[in-house]
Amino acid sequence: MNTRTLRRLLNYKHTRRGIRLAIVLLLVFGAGYSLWGDEVVAVPAGPSASAAAWSALYYSHNQQLREESPTASVTSCDDLSVLVDRSHPLPSDYAPGDLVPLQDYGVPTLGSEVLRREAAEHLGRLVEDAAVDGEELVVASGYRSYEDQKLSHLRLMSVFGEAAGRMSATPGHSQHQLGTAVDFTNAAAAYEVSGFFAQTSAHWWLEQHAWEYGFVLAYPQGKEDQTGYEWEPWHYRFVGVEDAKRLQESDLSLQAFLEREGTMPHC
Ligand SMILES: [Zn+2]
Repeated sequence: MNTRTLRRLLNYKHTRRGIRLAIVLLLVFGAGYSLWGDEVVAVPAGPSASAAAWSALYYSHNQQLREESPTASVTSCDDLSVLVDRSHPLPSDYAPGDLVPLQDYGVPTLGSEVLRREAAEHLGRLVEDAAVDGEELVVASGYRSYEDQKLSHLRLMSVFGEAAGRMSATPGHSQHQLGTAVDFTNAAAAYEVSGFFAQTSAHWWLEQHAWEYGFVLAYPQGKEDQTGYEWEPWHYRFVGVEDAKRLQESDLSLQAFLEREGTMPHC
């Protein structure tokens, strides 16, 4: 990250002072993480496991969980409209059973990101159509397991104590555990997950077209009191085309929409 990018990040008007400090400290410590709302996104460094290896790993993990918890039902957590927020956590043993590598669907990624199959199929078409319109979209983060979130959060807690709760979702409360949420970036945003993405033309394209592919902005600007999170212009969640269209036509946040029509995560 060069000085100019850093200055822009620090001057970003929606950034709270504490988060500015957090970013600076993490840059100083060289931890290699981007922070915002429910985000703790590792910036890929060095060679990563192949997409196929990731897929095999998660499949094996899911099988193991099912064998360990034969009575646990994952039906409602597989529902695309399950509510996950600060008050509604996912069970620690929930992991989707149909994760696929995004690279298999032509989606550019910074690492070996995976999503649930239906979300990946729609995302593949979204990214392709955006490219036709001259917009680059790269996925910086897709599925994150409960354990991934737990480790990231513990790392933050060790540095910031209780303040870490304002910087990232506690384990079980991240939409990334659903396997249907993605964080976008691109060259114009220096391939980082930050508020600077909001100033790119790809962001405007997403605001107009993401719903056509079943994706919605989970934490919109001006809806902070409903969602419990700061505006995250890069964070989209797949809910299916029908619900995305209904949400687009309403004035509700995803949070309020799912509270009214979604599924509680009792699974
Ligand atoms: Zn995210």
